Amino acid sequence: MSQDLYQEIILDHYKNPRGKKVEIASLAQSYQVNPTCGDEVTVDVGQGPDGTLLVSYDGQGCSISQASASVMSELITGKTPDQAAPIQVAFLELMKSKGQLEPDEEVLEDAIAFAGVSKYPARIKCALISWMALSDAQIKAQLTPVITTRSE
Ligand code: ZN
Repeated sequence: MSQDLYQEIILDHYKNPRGKKVEIASLAQSYQVNPTCGDEVTVDVGQGPDGTLLVSYDGQGCSISQASASVMSELITGKTPDQAAPIQVAFLELMKSKGQLEPDEEVLEDAIAFAGVSKYPARIKCALISWMALSDAQIKAQLTPVITTRSE
């Protein structure tokens, strides 16, 4: 996919944020800052009656940090912690890929737009802070995936 299209997705989420200041019954909150860029993100996590995650965020900063928070909220809301985990892992892997990884659109959906960001070490933290805040809030709320060990 072209850099132009990636740029378009990021700009769209920046201008029309999803999940920003959405009212949810929050179980835990995490506030993260990226001092090198000045980005700030607060993520709240809750759980719907069906066990799926509810995500709301607020923040300010560069377009990458805010667009990433919007993409993250949209992707994770409505997923169970078990369903969310592979998406979170895939995004982290993409950010560590230095632009060498072809992102899986079926897993990452709009988050593929940040593939190009992984080439710029200074911007990776911008894309990651909301995802780090989510993980932190999930741990606080005990909404992490269930790790099952096989008995056989
Ligand atoms: Zn930033």
